[in-house]
Amino acid sequence: MDYANALLDLVGNTPLVKLRRVTDGAPGLVLAKVEYLNPGGSVKDRIATRMVEAAEASGELKPGGTIVEPTSGNTGVGLAMVAQEKGYRCVFVCPDKVSEDKRNVLKAYGAEVVVCPTAVPPEHPNSYYEVSDRLVREIDGAWKPNQYANTNNPRAHYETTGPELWKQTEGRITHFVAGIGTGGTISGTGRYLKEVSDGRVQVIGADPHGSVYSGGTGRPYLVEGVGEDFWPDTYDRDVADRIIEVSDADSFAMTRRMAREEAMLVGGSAGMAAAAAVRLAQELDDPEAVIVVLLPDGGRGYLTKVFDDEWLSQYGFLTPPRGQRTVGDLL
Ligand code: PMP
Repeated sequence: MDYANALLDLVGNTPLVKLRRVTDGAPGLVLAKVEYLNPGGSVKDRIATRMVEAAEASGELKPGGTIVEPTSGNTGVGLAMVAQEKGYRCVFVCPDKVSEDKRNVLKAYGAEVVVCPTAVPPEHPNSYYEVSDRLVREIDGAWKPNQYANTNNPRAHYETTGPELWKQTEGRITHFVAGIGTGGTISGTGRYLKEVSDGRVQVIGADPHGSVYSGGTGRPYLVEGVGEDFWPDTYDRDVADRIIEVSDADSFAMTRRMAREEAMLVGGSAGMAAAAAVRLAQELDDPEAVIVVLLPDGGRGYLTKVFDDEWLSQYGFLTPPRGQRTVGDLL
């Protein structure tokens, strides 16, 4: 019989799919690493599994222990899934600006969610940084993965994402494109690909306009999960050969094109990375180029944002898809 023993055995080994239409005829291959096909729905399943297993091995996380992390997004889902399978308690701390839908996803996996006010400085006792630190001190057997400083975050990608891409492309990958949040994905995958190819593979970061990685000072930008206003330990500053800056408008336009033209319902950071990859393919103008772009998560969590016309037009971003008329035009 063909079955997995546990859901966690299905983390990683995601497929590569050729982008056919959004490349607008640019020469070369642009291949998407479809990370939303991980069982928890994002690339973060990889680091959640690796960080928990390492903490078990080192004794930091003991049977019956509690995982405490300030997160509301994909890392929370990954950790909640791993915790549920392995019998740990999970407490996530998030600011009150996080949508109820996102909090409910974490609760659905059995996690507890503590909501903190956004409108207080980081050193305030009720800020979400302070609250998560206090919970770690006060809960017996608590362990904080701290994805922004945990070396097992980039290591997960060095050990899985990188080797998968090398094998899937039979060593023919020429460029790797990824967004940068904690930097774990680009640092681990990029480092592996550089080593295995003797420096031949070019590593390209995609970054929202305004973020520190592309020379900005921090926010504001609207695309979620990528870009930072500080330099995390998990980001290897030497790994990227180049950073391509992408505006919110271009990120969201590509996010929508991915759904309508490639049938890939992805989040805004995937649209941002795809926009950078297509720009690169156009610039290289090389039929031998094999560009791999990593799509971190799916679009279901963003239906009331990127995929909502009113939300988009509120920021002046709405552009009708090419060659397509709306029902309104036909009436
Ligand atoms: N996209 C999304 C939606 C994310 O949640 C994250 C993680 N913050 C990233 C991209 C960036 O990945 P990494 O943290 O590995 O740099």
